Amino acid sequence: MGKPHLLVAGGGIGGMAAALALLRKGFDVDVYEQAQAFREVGAGVQISPNGNRALDHLGVFHALQAVSCDADGKEIRLWNSGRTWKLFDLGAEAIARWGHPYLTVYRPDLLQVLTDAVLALKPSALHLGAKVTDFGADGDGVVLRLEDGGEVRGDVLIGADGVHSRIRNRLHGESAARFSGMMAWRGVIPMERLPTHMARSVATNWIGPGAHVVCYPLRGGRLMNFVATVDRDDWRDESWTTEGTVEECRADFLGWHADIQAMIGAAPSLFKWALLGRPPMERWTVGRVTLLGDACHPTLPFLAQGAVMALEDAVVLARAFEAFGDDVSEALARYEAARIEVTRRKVLGASANTERFHNPALATEAGAAAYVDGQWNRDAILARYDWIFADDVTRAPL
Ligand SMILES: Cc1cc2nc3c(=O)[nH]c(=O)nc-3n(C[C@H](O)[C@H](O)[C@H](O)COP(=O)(O)OP(=O)(O)OC[C@H]3O[C@@H](n4cnc5c(N)ncnc54)[C@H](O)[C@@H]3O)c2cc1C
Repeated sequence: MGKPHLLVAGGGIGGMAAALALLRKGFDVDVYEQAQAFREVGAGVQISPNGNRALDHLGVFHALQAVSCDADGKEIRLWNSGRTWKLFDLGAEAIARWGHPYLTVYRPDLLQVLTDAVLALKPSALHLGAKVTDFGADGDGVVLRLEDGGEVRGDVLIGADGVHSRIRNRLHGESAARFSGMMAWRGVIPMERLPTHMARSVATNWIGPGAHVVCYPLRGGRLMNFVATVDRDDWRDESWTTEGTVEECRADFLGWHADIQAMIGAAPSLFKWALLGRPPMERWTVGRVTLLGDACHPTLPFLAQGAVMALEDAVVLARAFEAFGDDVSEALARYEAARIEVTRRKVLGASANTERFHNPALATEAGAAAYVDGQWNRDAILARYDWIFADDVTRAPL
């Protein structure tokens, strides 16, 4: 058999990164995306040094950096007083330690950079308005069935169709999502609507009893990303497009610092969605079909590694096909073996951060000081993050 032709279901961050990684290694790839046009959610995403290493390997790091913000550092702040603790220095220190910076990125920009690079290599690679409804697979190949009745044949299918993946459900059965007991508010705010002291190149985690807020600049500092997560049992809708009101959001953050109130008041829209979790999977691949990104390892966003894991999956998948491409089973087995444990560890690490970010000890200044000293001292921070940022999927043995 010649080089396999790979079909990708889903043209999100993971699907487009996989297409780019495979095309760069000389494989033929087609991506089937249900959206009629790209409508990537307007929100921020943090790309840690390991993610930027993957993007550099894909040849798009500099294009992304040009439209993003390099974070100088990350900090923890206390919900009411605003007391501040350094989490870690980034900027030059990140480059010295991990070889790449930590970027805060507007998600549509990341998707655009990946898409431009894919289309430069294969202008016909992306099929929009192509909703995948089913697939078949046998020893000879795969067939993808589309909602419009069309069928497409290929050699391998990659399910990169996100947290509600049809491909995963067809391969492994429906897996019930578990409500985490939390919901999140999300907004992107023009920086000029905020007090000038807030325009800083820092990613901040505001932590408090039962809630936390993450904010950081986007697009060269012209926008502020705002994600506010709160323990709340009365909201189960996982949609990213349901709007809430300023009053409801304020009610969730009564007594929080003036900077939080400023962001709530200045957000043009506040979207709300329930955070659901799924336990890590035991296996992903069946025959010629595998999974990638949120389709196989959806995560709470509390380690900021969901999109990064999808980028890393893409790099490893393409490396496995480069090394073993004439043996599809071997390539898919090597890919899965290289990714399944590390992604499980990150998913569990993200869940473990819930307790840290929302701890009842944070209610008082004294309780918070002791808790932060215990949980965010330099050794504890390095133990939680260094292995992630240092991970180099561009070289890891397969
Ligand atoms: C609040 C929040 C904050 C986050 N912050 C970060 C962060 O700071 N850093 C980070 O690394 N990650 C972050 N993440 C996680 C990150 O957004 C996801 O992990 C990432 O988007 C996963 O990419 P994906 O391509 O696997 O899935 P998706 O981005 O969901 O893409 C799936 C694609 O498949 C398409 N699709 C679905 N079904 C079909 C079908 N049947 N046929 C055809 N197409 C289909 C969809 O339209 C979509 O385009 C965050 C997530 C949330 C919710």
